[in-house]
Amino acid sequence: MVPVAGRAEGEKVSYEVKIKGIVQGVGFRPFLYRLARQYNLSGWVRNGSDGVLLVVEGDNAPVEAFFRRLTGELPRQASIRYLKKKKVPPSGFASFEIILSEGQADREPLIPPDLAACPECMQEVLSFPDRHYRYPFTNCTQCGPRFTIIHDLPYDRSRTTMAAFAPCLHCASEYRNPVDRRFHAQPVACPSCGPSITVTGPEGRPVTAASGDAWLPFFWEQMESGQIFAVKGLGGFHLACNLDQEVIARLRERKSRPWKPLAVMCRDMEAVRRYCRVSKREAELLLSPAAPIVLLNLKRKSGIPPGVNPNLASLGVMLPYTPLHFLLLQGPFDCMVLTSANPADLPVIKDNGEALEELRGVADYFLLHNRDIHQRCDDSVVKAAAGKTQFIRRSRGYVPGTVDPGFSAGTVVLGSGAEMKNTFCLLYRNQALLSQHQGEMGTLEAEKFYRDSLGHFTGFLGWRPEIIGYDPHPSYTVSALARSLPAREKYAVQHHHAHFASCLAENRFRGEAIGLILDGTGYGLDGNIWGFEVLAGNFQDFTREYHQRYVPLPGGEAAVRHPWRTAASYLYQSLGEEGLARAEELFGRRFSREWDILRREIVQQRHSVPASSCGRLFDAVSSLLGLCQENSYEGQAAVELSALLEKEPFRAGPEAYPFVMEKDWIDFSPVFPAILDDLKRKTAADRAARRFHDTVAEALVEAAARVAARRGLSTVALSGGAWHNPYLLHRTCLGLRQKSFKVLLHRLVPPGDGGLSLGQAAVAYWRWKGNVPGSTHENHSQG
Ligand code: ZN
Ligand code: ZN
Ligand code: FE
Repeated sequence: MVPVAGRAEGEKVSYEVKIKGIVQGVGFRPFLYRLARQYNLSGWVRNGSDGVLLVVEGDNAPVEAFFRRLTGELPRQASIRYLKKKKVPPSGFASFEIILSEGQADREPLIPPDLAACPECMQEVLSFPDRHYRYPFTNCTQCGPRFTIIHDLPYDRSRTTMAAFAPCLHCASEYRNPVDRRFHAQPVACPSCGPSITVTGPEGRPVTAASGDAWLPFFWEQMESGQIFAVKGLGGFHLACNLDQEVIARLRERKSRPWKPLAVMCRDMEAVRRYCRVSKREAELLLSPAAPIVLLNLKRKSGIPPGVNPNLASLGVMLPYTPLHFLLLQGPFDCMVLTSANPADLPVIKDNGEALEELRGVADYFLLHNRDIHQRCDDSVVKAAAGKTQFIRRSRGYVPGTVDPGFSAGTVVLGSGAEMKNTFCLLYRNQALLSQHQGEMGTLEAEKFYRDSLGHFTGFLGWRPEIIGYDPHPSYTVSALARSLPAREKYAVQHHHAHFASCLAENRFRGEAIGLILDGTGYGLDGNIWGFEVLAGNFQDFTREYHQRYVPLPGGEAAVRHPWRTAASYLYQSLGEEGLARAEELFGRRFSREWDILRREIVQQRHSVPASSCGRLFDAVSSLLGLCQENSYEGQAAVELSALLEKEPFRAGPEAYPFVMEKDWIDFSPVFPAILDDLKRKTAADRAARRFHDTVAEALVEAAARVAARRGLSTVALSGGAWHNPYLLHRTCLGLRQKSFKVLLHRLVPPGDGGLSLGQAAVAYWRWKGNVPGSTHENHSQG
């Protein structure tokens, strides 16, 4: 509403304003209060369950200035999604006040994500004699725990795990003072009233030498001498140790985690720059309120021991995001290993008792505290890809922020997610809310975590799923769980269609597109393993235009674990018996015990599963180049292969290897003898790796061009976990743009299975809306 210019001096105007977005728990009301007082305006502001309600009145010019500054100078964490002004007759309020919250029916996601400690609070914990000096639970309206401690809405202390701590007079007066940094900061605390630290040994007995203020010097001393700590943080426990190669080896041994890269936390940006190269985008990510783990390129002589990230050129780095972590790094070291403390395949540990039980024999000391974690939440992992953010794991700091799918769903939809790297997604109106990283499904613990989180989200949102989209994989336990939930309609959404739809949704793209979907494993409509798919379609439906020619995976799961098995299968596909002979030269002696069985499996096609998986293709090439013969963590062989190309700037290889594209398939098996020839000519492995990547990119661009010509499409969506590969992404985007395609990438949710649930929800909704009967599975059943 535009005010009339030239209004008579002294005439009052009054507006009633409704504001939605992230406007609670972020210092929004104090901000309005200060602004209103500054302009001598009167009225009030209060929180509701779906946003903030504001009435403001005064002279026209200052009221206009108030609104300009309201939108222009928001507090650091606040964001406005919706603002509606209505002119009302002035009521003649004497002053401007903040009035108490009132519950309302129609709820929207209002819980803010956890916020990294702000500079003011970090300054305070360093400043003696400030009463927050060295206090690890210091926070204010701009920072601190939110999502991980909140039970319910509206957000106030009584509905958080801080309810157990009554604020002291000092804290209470800051909380009540509208001009204080801590005005209505729900988790506000200080040493005399708030949570505290206890250090214990593995049996749970407090360590006397670490009592009171001594916990911090004790931590520094023991870390220096090589002890391993379990540290309770914001959303769960970490294991911490110093950068000594031997200590890291001990940690890996105790955790049975031989190769998987570990993350580190650095004191500050200066320390990060000591070890890694940091771009402007990467620095912004590190310093953002979400404070995720950012994958950075290591400097050549970084001093980071290879045990932290074996065979990789990148390192996962984060900055301290709580005053506790900040304090831990104020001692003798500026960088420490800090890795999620979860037993293999189980959710991250959140409770003290759970930690003492599960981490006995792993940690030497336990740094515990008594502020309970209500929702477990792993660290998020991101990287800069093609100059922008790419999520590897979207969790702490981002959840429960929502994604706008570009349409409004008239009913609540649940996407139940994948079996690995699980998240689920609740979709309603134009908001898709993805859960925190649930991790691997398939254990009782994982199922309990899943049910708890789902109950938590549906509870505070008041959203009951009416429609469910799930993965039709017959052995996904999460799909069985989804099928058991009450709902009006359930749709089996093919895995790669869900990836495709996820990319369309986050790009708010409603039309028809081509999907280049590359991942490790997804259940295909024909019962085979899919993973290298060129699709065409939209939210409702798709056709499979091209796929990688099926290659039998000898031994099924055994081939996933041992890439050399798949390499042998590709060689057989390409050259028959001669290929097997060449494979035997490479692997026969090294894997002599398994070789004869494998040979039989390949020739007789026994115990083998047909697969068009991109992950297995990269495995096989990694094996052939002698990089990795065993996947000790998911994607290891492929990651080590792509790491070969990350050390230098992106240049195209000499030329692509041969491949065959016919009917609806692409055959990459000719790549394998060509690589062997290259190796015989003493071509360096990174050169061969480059040629291989170029081959895949060229095949994809060619396939997209053919589909575009047939179906008149010009937009291409890239989804699936293989798009974490930076060189492949770069080359493919370049090729597609040269052919004038519009390219859609994942920027808001992970391209891998962590983003799958968004696509499942979108497909389920549109199939329901379009009255498409049954599931994608039933509609497409084919031989
Ligand atoms: Zn703060
Ligand atoms: Zn206090
Ligand atoms: Fe996938």
